[in-house]
Amino acid sequence: MIGWVLKKILGTQNQREVRRLTPLVGEINRQEEALRTLSFDELRGKTSAFRERLAKGETLDQLLPEAFAVVKNCCRRFTEEKRKIKVRGQEILWEMIPFDVQLIGGMVLHSGKIAEMATGEGKTLVATLPTYLNALSGKGVHVVTVNDYLAARDADWMGEVYRELGLTVGCLQHGQTQSERRAQYACDITYGTSSEFGFDYLRDNGMATTPEDQVQRGHFYSIIDEVDSILIDEARTPLIISGPVTVSTHQFDKYKSVVESLVRKQNGLCTDWANQAKAKIEAGDLQGAGRLLYKVKLGSPRNKLLLKFQEDPGTRRAIDDAELEMYQDTRRTELYKTKEEMYFSIDERNSEADLSEMGRNFLNPNDPHFFLVPDLITKNHDIETNASLGAEEKLKAKAAAQADYEEASQRIHNISQLLRASCVFEKDVHYVVQENKVIIVDEYTGRLMPGRRWSDGLHQAVEAKEGVQIDRETQTLATITIQNYFRLYEKLAGMTGTAETEANEFKDIYRLGVVVIPTNRNCIRKDADDLIFKTRREKLNALIEEIKKRNAAGQPMLVGTASVESSEIISRMLRRENIPHSVLNAKQHQLEAEIVARAGERGAVMIATNMAGRGTDIKLSPGVAELGGLHVVGTERHESRRIDRQLRGRCARQGDPGSSQFFISFEDDLMRNFGDSRRIAGLMTKLGMEDNEGLQHPWLNRSVETAQKRVEQRNYQVRKHTLQYDDVMNQQRTVIYAWRTDILNSTDPRPEVFETVDERIAAEVEARAGTDPVDLEGLVHWANSAMPLGLQKEDFQKAGGKEEWAKLLKAKVREAYEVKVKFENPEAVKALERYVVLGAIDRLWQEHLYAMDGLRTSINLRAYGQKDPLIEYKNEAYGMFGELMGRIKEEVVHNLFRSASSLSAFESFLSALPQRAGRGELPMEATAQSTEGSMSMQAEGGTSMVEEALAPMKRQGPKLGRNDPCPLDPNKKFKNCCGATGSKSCFKVSA
Ligand code: ADP
Ligand code: MG
Repeated sequence: MIGWVLKKILGTQNQREVRRLTPLVGEINRQEEALRTLSFDELRGKTSAFRERLAKGETLDQLLPEAFAVVKNCCRRFTEEKRKIKVRGQEILWEMIPFDVQLIGGMVLHSGKIAEMATGEGKTLVATLPTYLNALSGKGVHVVTVNDYLAARDADWMGEVYRELGLTVGCLQHGQTQSERRAQYACDITYGTSSEFGFDYLRDNGMATTPEDQVQRGHFYSIIDEVDSILIDEARTPLIISGPVTVSTHQFDKYKSVVESLVRKQNGLCTDWANQAKAKIEAGDLQGAGRLLYKVKLGSPRNKLLLKFQEDPGTRRAIDDAELEMYQDTRRTELYKTKEEMYFSIDERNSEADLSEMGRNFLNPNDPHFFLVPDLITKNHDIETNASLGAEEKLKAKAAAQADYEEASQRIHNISQLLRASCVFEKDVHYVVQENKVIIVDEYTGRLMPGRRWSDGLHQAVEAKEGVQIDRETQTLATITIQNYFRLYEKLAGMTGTAETEANEFKDIYRLGVVVIPTNRNCIRKDADDLIFKTRREKLNALIEEIKKRNAAGQPMLVGTASVESSEIISRMLRRENIPHSVLNAKQHQLEAEIVARAGERGAVMIATNMAGRGTDIKLSPGVAELGGLHVVGTERHESRRIDRQLRGRCARQGDPGSSQFFISFEDDLMRNFGDSRRIAGLMTKLGMEDNEGLQHPWLNRSVETAQKRVEQRNYQVRKHTLQYDDVMNQQRTVIYAWRTDILNSTDPRPEVFETVDERIAAEVEARAGTDPVDLEGLVHWANSAMPLGLQKEDFQKAGGKEEWAKLLKAKVREAYEVKVKFENPEAVKALERYVVLGAIDRLWQEHLYAMDGLRTSINLRAYGQKDPLIEYKNEAYGMFGELMGRIKEEVVHNLFRSASSLSAFESFLSALPQRAGRGELPMEATAQSTEGSMSMQAEGGTSMVEEALAPMKRQGPKLGRNDPCPLDPNKKFKNCCGATGSKSCFKVSA
């Protein structure tokens, strides 16, 4: 009811928006008619005329009708002259002139909104209208596609219009060098995927060492094709450029076998319970059985017996009842007790693994506390209130407690990841093992994601489980979420066939409104109700029968699956029946696009995961319309309704006939985890369902959609959560990147360098003057160890108060620096000054990112207390950022004089720079990496130009490991000296 009312309101709002734009359509069409009498040269001349008018102060909005008319008229000329265009090596005949609804779509995109236009409505062409208009500004328009193939295709195809009208078009492709990329961005229009754009941003702002290294030239306007896929499906995965870490913390090898026996023990327990449940069922005690089976679900969610029991609707209901009961507030203690009856418990929904006391005892019978996180707060309190300890001893005791805490957290984290790897992540579902590597399977699309890695040690844990080579851990060098990348644009727009169900999220997060554009012709697709089966086996058998039947009649079919695994199962079954078919897994975009384009031919059977061949048009061949057009079958409802709509939308384009239906079973993941199986089972009994045949009823559809809404909600929360945490990082990144870019682009960096030095001096003077008595010795010591100033206490005493001290220091530093650089090549000195700041920012920012990762993890452990982890995170992150800024300044002061001594080394490095930059030696070979909650890219080889550039300036001495002797006191280990855990502070003094 509420939905209906909302739809009414949304509908009218939407209609109002469309109606508002309609008069402009008339205006565009009138203008277009007037253009028909022009010569082609005169039409082309419009582009420069528009540019002049913009320069004179006219706005893009004012130019819109005429500019759209120019594009439309250009399309008309192409169509009339039957122009053939070379698109990815094949000739395509141009035969399209924008329809009125396409003009409306173009206006919606220009206004910075999302245009929802069904599949086949010609969104590729729609984008050319606002792209041409906005490119007139000269600021660069970015058009984002879902894969490299589509970027290249659209740049070839639509590029014809832009080029004809005198604009330049570029296209990003994976593996291009830096200079190639710069050339693409220099164009008026640039096509590319979201990750190419995002990673270029990271390289430009986090790694480039000269302005020439930077390839992008601002973020003016971006149109995202398949915007839901980019901003929603990919949004849970931030982009990360990473390099290998210096010190490894994983202990998976060490714990692997003991965790394996723990899992075996647990499986034994769970199987016993499952058998007891069986006896209870036989004795008619369904409720008792449900409770036992719920325990099995907690302890071993993928237990075979459990999965079998879940096939029976009655038993499922009993399990759900038991679960519901446990989660009532009054029963929490019972839930806790239940968890203590097993070695560990797994929450499949949140994919978390928790050791119980039994588990801890099993892992280490001598010291069960070994696997328990120490209570740091109480410990610190005890230390603080311990009267027998002196101030120094207290500090030491606290540091030791901190070290214990970190070690224990690390251990527990290792165990928990190993447990998740064995009990939640299933081979051939979540990942595959190929050539001694664990490769992630994308849960939404079924694509294999080589190069992507789960974060937080999970990937290594899975590698340990599978006994393949455990790859090195990596460290973040630069990171941003897709969300925050696209928030950089002054204006953002998107298009897709399916945005409406996610309209709230687009509004909340991106401030993007959604406008549903009517189709050019009415859609006559027939969507049948879902067919529901008890088991997967029954479902698949019925599916094959259906395919056989329609195939015999010659009707083409597109079978959509949720994973590569199920594509392959169906393919095997079809082979057994000798039905020719193709399987698409979104692995080879171009090839698959060519295959999918033929899905509308007579008798074609195409099995595809949801991203496979996306963006490719399926046209019906002659005679197929009479057979009912393309029939789409979904073999499983996806986690969101939107993906289902995408699949259905593959048929019945532009008024073609077509139909669709989903086949589902209780064993599908969606139904297992989120289905309200009790209600559905009840319905099924009521509707009189036989054992082997599927059941169909509109009520059932609604129950399935309720399950989907639940998942959508959860996923939305996850994305929002990622964003809230990333917002903190985003602010910090903005500050750091702005500072970096300033330095990078300044022609004379010295004033900025001295500004930094002055701030540092002011802070130091303030601190030393703030003690009672004033710490003049400390100030003298600091000044002389940081800079070769040769100052004495008397100098300050003579000077007067703290203002004079600061003045004296500032003057002395300048004096000393002038002497240093007097005889050097001024250009080299400038470059050097730039590197002094960049070096400090990069090194410490990367350390900071690493520390922030750690903070994220530990904050979650702390959530056990009453505190809101997000607030805690914000507070601590704020403090850490303040420290970071202080440390960068300190390092600038240090490096200013230190680096001058290696100036000649620098000069030779600098002279080699132009060639290097041209060859693109920033980590270009970054490949995408996925994680639970974060996706990253790995900079292959690890050494980037940044690293190399800074090498001469880095402090002397190797990076110290925990067990190396301390450089200050060789009798102590580095880890324990200064009482700190691997604190860099002693390192600093020694250098
Ligand atoms: P979408 O991205 O909306 O699914 P496409 O951009 O892939 O659709 O276009 C689908 C098909 O429609 C293409 O074959 C294209 O040539 C055709 N098309 C688009 N616009 C027009 C038009 N105005 N007139 C004729 N054909 C068109
Ligand atoms: Mg498209």
